[in-house]
Amino acid sequence: MTSHVQPFQLDGKPARGRIVRMHSVVDEILAKHDYPEGIAILLAHALTLVAILGNTLKFEGKLIMQAKGNSVVTSLVADYKSPGVEGAQGEVRGWVNFDPDLYDAAVADGLDVGREIPQLLGAGHLAFTIDQGPDTDRYQGIVGLEGATLAECAQMYFDNSEQLPTAIKLSAGRASDGWRAGGIMLQHLAFTGGIGEIGGDDALFDATMDQEDHQNELWREGAILMASARDEELQSNELSPKGLLFRLFHEKGVRVFDPVGLAVLCQCSRERIGTVLAQFDDTELVDMAVDGNVIVTCEFCNKDFKFEAPVD
Ligand SMILES: [Zn+2]
Repeated sequence: MTSHVQPFQLDGKPARGRIVRMHSVVDEILAKHDYPEGIAILLAHALTLVAILGNTLKFEGKLIMQAKGNSVVTSLVADYKSPGVEGAQGEVRGWVNFDPDLYDAAVADGLDVGREIPQLLGAGHLAFTIDQGPDTDRYQGIVGLEGATLAECAQMYFDNSEQLPTAIKLSAGRASDGWRAGGIMLQHLAFTGGIGEIGGDDALFDATMDQEDHQNELWREGAILMASARDEELQSNELSPKGLLFRLFHEKGVRVFDPVGLAVLCQCSRERIGTVLAQFDDTELVDMAVDGNVIVTCEFCNKDFKFEAPVD
């Protein structure tokens, strides 16, 4: 399994998290597009983030992340579809709409892929939508593009809107065998009022300290350990997610849960696109046609669907 999400929980600290490896999935998605490096890395970060966050959904549904910018990139979409049943795979897809001329200008200005928000998206917002299906209300949360990276914007969202301290690190790059991406997230478990419930040796340590302060201190220690994960470790083919968790947290122990596999999702089909085209009248279809055919390209997988236009 080269693309999967590994849930974990720290022993002795009020923190749980997810680690994700996206090699096969991110390579398959990026191979279908001809994105320049900076755009490919931005999308790889978005896919990694949506897989980490979406994996926390406890039901069959979708997490849709949309970024709207006003610079090189005007929109970016990444979706995660949760498997719903145990043992099934989660599925991701995504695309980026960008201006190639503005991208070239950004490269000429010295584009640093580590600061994707100010250099590629500019001002705008990031929206997270949770969709549980047609009969339920959609939940949407929005945060301004105020961080330097997608990870920072997502952290701000959890801190401000959900009051859930969260640390996220994302990494992506092209290796000799294709694109690779990886990431890790740590979230503060809600304070339960009893350190004993969380367990570990720390429960006996410094009993006079206010319990909540103590929990927060333990959380910060976990976040500091997590932040030491390096790009090559997050993207590694050799170091397993369990191996990386042990490297980061071994002193206090870490419990791992069953990993969830990841696959590429695209729901496009000739039938589905035909239904959309059926909503246009003949004159509109003739206007859209090139050499007698209407060609519709799926933004997610870049696949062309050719339909014969009505005769003028
Ligand atoms: Zn498609």
